[in-house]
Amino acid sequence: MINREELFKSLTEAFGPSGFEKEVSEIMNKYFSLTGEVVYDRLGSIICKREKKGLKIMFASHMDEVGFLVSKITKDGYIQFLPIGGWYPQVLLGSPVKIRTYKGDFLGVIGTKPPHELPEEERNKVVPIEKMYIDFGTFEGFDISKEFGIRIGDPIIPFFNYQKLPNNLHLGKAWDDRFGCAILCELAYALKDIDHPNSIYLVGTSQEEVGLRGARTAAEFIKPDIAFAIDVSIARDYPGYNTKETPERLKNGCAIITYDVTMIPNIKLRDFVIDLAEKYNIKYHLTTIKGGYDTGAIHLKGIGIPSLAIGIPTRYIHSHCGIIAEEDYEACLNLLIKICENLKEFPF
Ligand SMILES: [Zn+2]
Repeated sequence: MINREELFKSLTEAFGPSGFEKEVSEIMNKYFSLTGEVVYDRLGSIICKREKKGLKIMFASHMDEVGFLVSKITKDGYIQFLPIGGWYPQVLLGSPVKIRTYKGDFLGVIGTKPPHELPEEERNKVVPIEKMYIDFGTFEGFDISKEFGIRIGDPIIPFFNYQKLPNNLHLGKAWDDRFGCAILCELAYALKDIDHPNSIYLVGTSQEEVGLRGARTAAEFIKPDIAFAIDVSIARDYPGYNTKETPERLKNGCAIITYDVTMIPNIKLRDFVIDLAEKYNIKYHLTTIKGGYDTGAIHLKGIGIPSLAIGIPTRYIHSHCGIIAEEDYEACLNLLIKICENLKEFPF
């Protein structure tokens, strides 16, 4: 049996901005190797293979999270940084972060002035990321780059410890897309007892947040017939949205992505999955999103690969921590299991 809270804790707290996903792939490897053959592509994506004679079906969840990279170390030992992936600067000031250098991990904070010190016109402005800095405990006479081994190009992530909330909700860093990584770990385990007619490839991809890079090489490696991305969708059930009308709410099941900016899904595949959810009474809703998914890169491989992205509604993605509901996670996992059992042939 998989201890789900342990899985959530280890995956959401893992260090893994784009290009630095090793710690995440090591966790996934522990689960993947229980059930299939594990291989890697040369961009760091991890692939669990369960090969049979039928269709080759790829499930991709990206391992990387949005983070930062050291761009400059000031004379006083403050660290300036670049964003890795999409950040809204407003969520950053005053937030704790962790850097990984060749000497280890160190905690710091993105510094900010107190409001009393800001003139009225500055108080209402968003500070651009280029003007922010991180304080890792710098002090006169302490050469922080030497002591901590900080180099330009070192990776930094938001720092947050996973918490279980009431109502079966889970608060954690990097649900985008560690929830997908967790689901693939559980799916790997479930596949042991499932009679699936197809070749299944469970993939933790690298570098999604910087342009779907790992998905491209992993798909090249696998050459799937069908592909799915398992990734967050946007919850629109909190202040600032029309919360009465939105179907994109926590506990409204699995999200089937009918449109994103990188792909219009294969319609037959989309309808096949909707029919499956209906048939097995798996809660789902349809959504659209202005971002992109790994399937955006995968579906363009070769002569085209029928693909679909499936998610769960998630609050506050691309910030220090977000919230998911366990019911949606389970709905998504169940739907993937049904896909593995039922997707025997595909009318290309
Ligand atoms: Zn994502």
